[in-house]
Amino acid sequence: MLKKKKIFWQLFPSYLLIIFISLFLVTTYSSNLFTHFYQEQILIELKERAYLIENQISKDFYPLNVDNIRVLTDKISKKILTRITIILPSGEVVADTEEDPLSMDNHTNRPEIQMALSGKDGFSTRFSHTLKENMVYVTVPVYVNNKMTGIIRTAMPSTLIEKTLTKAYFEIILGGLLVAFIGGAINYNLSKKISQPLEQLEHKARGFAAGNLKERLPEFDLEEINNVAYSMNEMAEQLNERMQIITHQNAEQETILSSMKSGLIFIDPQKRITKLNTSAAKLLNLDIEEVYGKKVKDTIKNIEFYKFISRALENRKSIEKEIPLGNDKEKHCIQLYTVPIFDEKEARTGTLIVLNDITHIKRLETIRQDFVSNVSHELKTPITSIQGYVETLIDGDMNDPEEIKTYLGVIKKHTGRLKAIIEDLLSLSRIEQGASGSEVTFETINIRDVLTNAVQTCEQKAELKSIKMNLACNNELKCSVNPLLIEQAIINLIDNAVKYSEESSSVLVEAFRQPGEIVIKVRDHGCGIPEESLSRIFERFYRVDKARSRKQGGTGLGLSIVKHIVQIHKGQVDVKSKPGEGSCFYIHLPEPA
Ligand code: ADP
Repeated sequence: MLKKKKIFWQLFPSYLLIIFISLFLVTTYSSNLFTHFYQEQILIELKERAYLIENQISKDFYPLNVDNIRVLTDKISKKILTRITIILPSGEVVADTEEDPLSMDNHTNRPEIQMALSGKDGFSTRFSHTLKENMVYVTVPVYVNNKMTGIIRTAMPSTLIEKTLTKAYFEIILGGLLVAFIGGAINYNLSKKISQPLEQLEHKARGFAAGNLKERLPEFDLEEINNVAYSMNEMAEQLNERMQIITHQNAEQETILSSMKSGLIFIDPQKRITKLNTSAAKLLNLDIEEVYGKKVKDTIKNIEFYKFISRALENRKSIEKEIPLGNDKEKHCIQLYTVPIFDEKEARTGTLIVLNDITHIKRLETIRQDFVSNVSHELKTPITSIQGYVETLIDGDMNDPEEIKTYLGVIKKHTGRLKAIIEDLLSLSRIEQGASGSEVTFETINIRDVLTNAVQTCEQKAELKSIKMNLACNNELKCSVNPLLIEQAIINLIDNAVKYSEESSSVLVEAFRQPGEIVIKVRDHGCGIPEESLSRIFERFYRVDKARSRKQGGTGLGLSIVKHIVQIHKGQVDVKSKPGEGSCFYIHLPEPA
């Protein structure tokens, strides 16, 4: 990528270069001009001095008065600080303010003298062998009566001119540098004036991009930059409003997603999880924050689920499947449903997976199926017997009244059993309906009265087996119950206690208060229940010993009815039992507040 330069470093050096180039050109031009001008001036001045000297000494040329000339030239030279040389047209030097003329050679071949001899003003810059330095010479011819009588030469050391020029150059350069410095400072300020607001714009733009949309840019002096700042402020305002709407919508969406019972997982075409709600995380035992952006394969270790997702991503239509999830302890049945997501160009952008925990529905389905097969089985036995005996009666000897009586007796027993099963089923269904509806009414009653009624109902059966019934309950103990239902539950428990006890044993029916609850206890000393059956005896039609239960006229529904009645009262029923020692059933009812 091309290396980016700051705008300041673009502007400042360019301006500086322009300043230096222009200063260099101006300085060179002006110093050249000045040198030329100065040299011209020096020549003019030397010429003027020569003419002035001519005025003073021309009278001494004819007749030639060398002494006078020498005195005058010496005098003038001291005043005007100029070397003066007087030369005759023959080239002979008659006077010189710096040297003895007698020691000087003939000057005819000097260029300035040559020019003067030709009648013109002459000049020359050259090395003086007499003075051993560079000199500027100017010569003017002197005419007396139109006849050239001599040449006046004025001279000045060129070092003097060079010194003056050097000083002038130095001042010009100093002035140039001062101008460059001032120009540079102005240029620096100007560049900063442009680059600083741009840097501010850049800084704020970064802030906007980072989400600081409440900040604003100040007003700027430069109109164009101020316009940009105004537009950026407006843009931030609009973005802020939109962000607020989006944040609000997101919060709404999050609330909807997290409050949904169904699990939702959004997966992108690369099989990465882009979103999932609380229910899905709970069902799949995942940490919401941890799985975002990760591949399904690395997060959900369930081959069936992974295969389903792969199939869903390949499919442009919704698909459905039920899969088992969870461990041995807690198994779930999950119904999966996919919704493919497309963008406006019909390109696949992801897939939504909907998860529904149908474990409960599945269990209910199994219970219903078991119930139907159990009921059919329970009803089939007495009906088959009845059918068999009726057929035997039809085919048999109709004249043997004893036989007919025996058969009819068996048929009666089985119809009685059928009736008992149907009655128990009906009451179970009534209780279940009551549990879902609100027709069950509660009243605060004396528990002892309920227990007494139940004991009385079962007394006759107990007496047949010489079983002693004991009742222990405080007269004052009260509880809010449906009296008929609770009495029915206690009757079922006492009936079982009598049914599964040996003759001449005893049954204790007791009620007492415990912190926060009333406990009704039915204790017997009967056959007891094996440990492996304890958790199942409250299921419909479950019996530890089918033959024994049937012989006792049991339907396998008694404890199921008890459980439902207690549930309606928002209580609990449990059992403690040891085979051979007896059983103890407890009904826990919440105490009225
Ligand atoms: P059943 O009509 O067969 O008595 P229940 O639902 O009342 O049906 O009881 C289920 C099973 O629990 C019984 O078949 C019996 O095996 C066992 N059971 C119930 N109560 C007692 C008890 N007090 N002593 C021993 N076993 C019992």
